[in-house]
Amino acid sequence: MQSHSLKLPPTLSCQEYPPGVNIIPMGSKTAQPFRTTNLIVFTNGNNPVEHESSPFVAQGDAMIIDPGCRSEFNKELAEIVTALPRKLIVFVTHHHRDHVDGLSTVQKTNPDACLLAHENTISRIRKDDWSVGYTTVSGTEEICIGGERFKIIFAPGHTDGHLALLHVSTNSLIAGDHCVGQGSAFLDINSGGNMNDYFQTTYKFMDLSPNALISMHGRVNLWPKHMLCGYLKNRRSRESTILKAIESGSKTLFDIVAYTYADVDRNLWVIAASNVRLHVEHLAHQNKLPKEFCVEKFESTCRVHFFSRWMWTYVQNRINSPTLMLLGAVTASGIALLCSVRNK
Ligand SMILES: [Zn+2]
Ligand SMILES: [Zn+2]
Repeated sequence: MQSHSLKLPPTLSCQEYPPGVNIIPMGSKTAQPFRTTNLIVFTNGNNPVEHESSPFVAQGDAMIIDPGCRSEFNKELAEIVTALPRKLIVFVTHHHRDHVDGLSTVQKTNPDACLLAHENTISRIRKDDWSVGYTTVSGTEEICIGGERFKIIFAPGHTDGHLALLHVSTNSLIAGDHCVGQGSAFLDINSGGNMNDYFQTTYKFMDLSPNALISMHGRVNLWPKHMLCGYLKNRRSRESTILKAIESGSKTLFDIVAYTYADVDRNLWVIAASNVRLHVEHLAHQNKLPKEFCVEKFESTCRVHFFSRWMWTYVQNRINSPTLMLLGAVTASGIALLCSVRNK
């Protein structure tokens, strides 16, 4: 079922769930295993209500969330925006490129549109992407679109400016990158990603008891509590393995990563390393680290020390496998050839 008021280019597909919330996956510069970011378009503007003394931070006739498509989809994005009412709210959950790449197209197509985002997100959005008409929000406000209420939820963890949105009448949660369609999201350590915030946001989402959870990558989840409990279970289990590594004598980032991710492809250890740093910070926050573990010394091993040891292990690993076999085969056949020439 597709909202009668949304005109969509034929090349795009759309799922409307719950009614009025249109989810349009668009090709984006996102991380594997995903290739698209869900553009959310809310158009249920059949009931426009103008509140005199408005309790809302913004009101509009339509809203789009996270226009993060690649430039080759700008034409389709412009077509969507052109077909929407002029009084448009643009909500951005956070500043990652796969969530804001289409902003400049939205602004060019509708210069009257108003951008809403957290101040930590706004400060990271380039002037080339958005230059006029924005409102910073903190995560306590509400938005009204055609008579429908959306509660803004402060949801840090993935980044320090990350926001979610609750569609009040259906209790559906648009969760940004806190949740993803499969696996779990990485936390961006360079943009204020924080494990304690991640846990608190997950508890906050559970308290909301949403009926549906809409993430920006992958499918809608209709069993949100199950998904959120799974996240908590996985993170706690990872954290207890990290604590075990520390208790058994690991003091450097590399040693803890090697212990915790022993059975994971070494290519992924660099991403795993920032996860470990966030867990160690969280363990320190909870006073769970053994007294003999020095956090300052650990932090001094997080850059050159980690990368040099990781590079060495990575190169060794590469040489051990097919390259080494090929080298061995070439050397053996060379020796065999030499011997046969000498024996003639
Ligand atoms: Zn992100
Ligand atoms: Zn993303």
